[in-house]
Amino acid sequence: MEHLLSIYNTLSRQTEQFIPLNSPFAGLYVCGPTVYGDPHLGHARPAITFDILFRYLTHLGYKVRYVRNITDVGHLVNDADSGEDKIAKQARFENLEPMEVVQFYLNRYHKAMEALNVLPPSIEPHASGHIIEQIQLVKDIIKSGFAYESAGSIYFDVEKYNKQYNYGVLSGRNIDDMLSTTRKLDGQEEKRRNIDFALWKKASPEHIMRWQSPWSEGFPGWHLECSAMSRKYLGEVFDIHGGGMDLIFPHHECEIAQSVAAGGKQAVRYWMHNNMITINGQKMGKSLNNFINLEQFFTGSHSLLTQAYSAMTIRFFILQAHYRSTVDFSNEALQASEKGLIRLMEAYDNIGRLTVSAQTENETIKAFAAKSSEAMNDDLNTPTVIAQLFESVHIINQSLAGQMDLSQEDIDELRRFFNLFLFDLLGMKNSQKDGNASYEAFSKAVDMLLEVRMQAKQNKDWTTSDKIRNELTALGFEIKDTKDGFEWRLSR
Ligand code: ZN
Repeated sequence: MEHLLSIYNTLSRQTEQFIPLNSPFAGLYVCGPTVYGDPHLGHARPAITFDILFRYLTHLGYKVRYVRNITDVGHLVNDADSGEDKIAKQARFENLEPMEVVQFYLNRYHKAMEALNVLPPSIEPHASGHIIEQIQLVKDIIKSGFAYESAGSIYFDVEKYNKQYNYGVLSGRNIDDMLSTTRKLDGQEEKRRNIDFALWKKASPEHIMRWQSPWSEGFPGWHLECSAMSRKYLGEVFDIHGGGMDLIFPHHECEIAQSVAAGGKQAVRYWMHNNMITINGQKMGKSLNNFINLEQFFTGSHSLLTQAYSAMTIRFFILQAHYRSTVDFSNEALQASEKGLIRLMEAYDNIGRLTVSAQTENETIKAFAAKSSEAMNDDLNTPTVIAQLFESVHIINQSLAGQMDLSQEDIDELRRFFNLFLFDLLGMKNSQKDGNASYEAFSKAVDMLLEVRMQAKQNKDWTTSDKIRNELTALGFEIKDTKDGFEWRLSR
């Protein structure tokens, strides 16, 4: 198998020739959601980014085992070692069992991912289902001397670890600075140092989610689950670990420390991180009232949105940026994406209308797929792939206008190009038409109305024909009269 893919490895800060070394098997682990609220843009971007990687590795011939976890315990409200569990807090708020909260939001997450055409991972393990594995990992870290017990809780000894290994390799943070600025705690606290992180926490009496362990009845620290579950399903060393950039520190830094402390070596060959999303140039946050969840995008039901945006528009918009760049959501930008996507889908439909008028192959058309593969191999450069697709739209339109001659090979190649890159790899689907029975009925009904209008025009019944035209236009239809009849489309 030939491997050309190169990716940016966040650990070495280089774009590296990438070869999953267990070829043809590739292990991919991506940090999934903490399921205590509605899925939002911050969930969509990593899911889509690593969906592209999953699709592309599979296309290259790898057998990919893609593990994306569900955090359902241990993620505390302030992302550190104190405060309430995010899920328990939501459960108290909604007066539900914690696992009811998990199931409720997980169902919504899955529904949103399906709408975004994100393929399900191979394994979706829950943290709460892997307490035994997490306890075993804590035992291993204690055995190697990098953890200590304090009042029934177990903490990772960052200072000791750093003497032997390098804490901060992934984030590039300087541990000495961190140690000197984080004072040694005065013994009032359980931890020796602020920078130490919990592997196991003793549960306070009011804490709901709790399990037996050798140290106390308690629950695992947030960072532990990913180390334990990746080890279980992908082995001691695996190929790619992904997630959003906001997870680099402390979550992924702590994962590295845990794996190295337990097994003496780095578990991950390549770290990949997607950049963050902003809304109208601002960070997303509940306090800024710009925290728009995915369903609000799909229905247009948020005060910042001037219209609804389909899941495919959101997906396409995210893919128009490279995964390592930031993406800024605004109505203008989304509307431009929506138009662009419609152009691509129309061009795809128009391939069926192209007629053969040349004998030889067009070299420009042949190059689209090659250039797009090259772009995908270059750190998943989806914007370049999309630019190639738009180039091909230009050719399709020229040919339709009778300004360019195409051979049968050219037409077949255009169809292959769209099918592979737009649909299979970028994962776009023609959401209105794709196997949608109700769309078919709807579309026939519109055709019928327009036929009645044609009839009315022939009978010089202008009142009826204008009424149909005006009312359909008001509903958002664009109607065009052609020499054989009519064409229509729903502009959004
Ligand atoms: Zn994780």
